[in-house]
Amino acid sequence: MDGGWTCYDVTEIMPAAAKPAKPRAISRPKSAAERQARVSDILKRLDEMYPNVTCALVHRTPWELLVATILSAQSTDKLVNQVTPGLFKKYPTIQDFAALRPEVLAHDIHSTGFFNNKAKSIVGAAKKILADFAGQVPRTMEEMLTIPGAARKTSNVVLGTAYGIASGVVVDTHVQRISRRLDLTRNTDPVKIERDLVKIIPKEKWILFSHQIIHHGRALCTARKPRCADCRLEPLCYSRDKTV
Ligand code: SF4
Repeated sequence: MDGGWTCYDVTEIMPAAAKPAKPRAISRPKSAAERQARVSDILKRLDEMYPNVTCALVHRTPWELLVATILSAQSTDKLVNQVTPGLFKKYPTIQDFAALRPEVLAHDIHSTGFFNNKAKSIVGAAKKILADFAGQVPRTMEEMLTIPGAARKTSNVVLGTAYGIASGVVVDTHVQRISRRLDLTRNTDPVKIERDLVKIIPKEKWILFSHQIIHHGRALCTARKPRCADCRLEPLCYSRDKTV
């Protein structure tokens, strides 16, 4: 036994996991034609991942969808779907909602959060639709925007899902985040994001694209830790917070 010691190169014994992973370089489109081809590829891959997705809010009529969409702000579709069956059983018609005092409705929708504002919007919406639209949820963005509680996001959900009318792209928190990750927009304001998206997404895809991105945000491209290894958009995505 010589009592000596061996000098190791530390890089040989350092576990591979200790080295920071380098993100794989993805080439970016350089021309307008390449950018459009990339968007087409993204849409094709979304169709493969989410071929038949639609709005997760349970509803039977445009009015029920409008109420559910107002309730879904700062809440989850799952929670809203737990509340709405009982709500529509208790108040089956739009006239029932219009006759309510907002504080009474607030009690019924308490669990969805922001109940006072939501109750005021829903009662106001019911009154407006009865007064100006003969009790029918209108079919144009311009008219929708006159209804309490219906800004562009809610209006796009209702027009697209209830009537199949492509009025724009729904820009919720998922669409905001993922559109930026995919470099489809560099804006942060929802109205500007929608303006960017409708320029590059074909109109016949606006409704489906909104649902696909919302599903993608729930399934894989989550806010904190996107599951990029499972994402078919990964070869086209050069987001800085990718996890592969
Ligand atoms: S690769 Fe990652 S960050 Fe990019 S879209 Fe897919 S899940 Fe989101």
